Amino acid sequence: MKEVTVISGKGGTGKTSITASFAFLAKNVVLADCDVDAADLHILAQPQVIHEEDFFGGTKAVIDHDKCSNCGTCLENCRYDAISASFVVDHSACEGCALCHYICPESAIRMEETLNGKWFISNTRFGPMVHANLIPGEENSGKLVALVRNQAKLIAEEQNMDIVIVDGAPGVGCPVISSITGVDYVVIVTEPTMSGLHDMKRVAELVKGFNIPSSLIINKWDIHPGMSNEIEKFANSENVALAGKIPYDKTFTESMVRRKTVVEEASSPAADAIVQVWKKLNQSVWQ
Ligand code: SF4
Ligand code: SF4
Repeated sequence: MKEVTVISGKGGTGKTSITASFAFLAKNVVLADCDVDAADLHILAQPQVIHEEDFFGGTKAVIDHDKCSNCGTCLENCRYDAISASFVVDHSACEGCALCHYICPESAIRMEETLNGKWFISNTRFGPMVHANLIPGEENSGKLVALVRNQAKLIAEEQNMDIVIVDGAPGVGCPVISSITGVDYVVIVTEPTMSGLHDMKRVAELVKGFNIPSSLIINKWDIHPGMSNEIEKFANSENVALAGKIPYDKTFTESMVRRKTVVEEASSPAADAIVQVWKKLNQSVWQ
């Protein structure tokens, strides 16, 4: 079983549609949607949820006013200013560091688990899918990403699946790091714009730091061939293989509107390019 993560330095590159296209082409696959802050793979995959669980990712301080002597120690030492003058913890400011819990002379502060979101196992036309939703404003998305990946791998092992395809989060922060740590292969999707180049550089450096084999897809390459060349040059200089270039094709978006991947519909320039990219990637991933 191989685990492949698809990432992009920024949103809007077509990453999720390309990930879903790979899932359709792969057949014996488990999908993991690790874009837990703004999950959207479900729009294309149309999952039928068969299992649902709460995600408790962190803790917050709670003060027991029957025990509190109003000494002020917690308020003076909380560096996040999460404790009010009347010794009530503001949970939107509390970082769950537990300092107050340890220093309270009356043992009046307990740490309570907080509900950060939900995670799901679903059936889709591509195969099983593990996905999640983080409650807006809640943290610990890195932990939730790790949970989603682990569940997807468990399913793959139990059902003898060949591949786990992970739709990673955009950017270079904690959720992305959690999306790529320990995977077998990373696919970077970018587009030929200045911000696409800039963000692709950051994400390629991140992947390089983890020493994971990777390759690059330039989506809508022909909207700016000059910038596509720049991106290819950078990829060459960093030993990131070019998996392929997908042309701008309005059928790509039209398929999405029908909640389909472009490869599920009639042959088109974008669909044909994605099929070629998938064939090439297969050779690299299974090397
Ligand atoms: S440190 Fe403990 S006893 Fe002192 S004000 Fe805070 S909760 Fe109350
Ligand atoms: S757990 Fe940390 S952040 Fe939260 S109230 Fe206590 S000291 Fe402040």
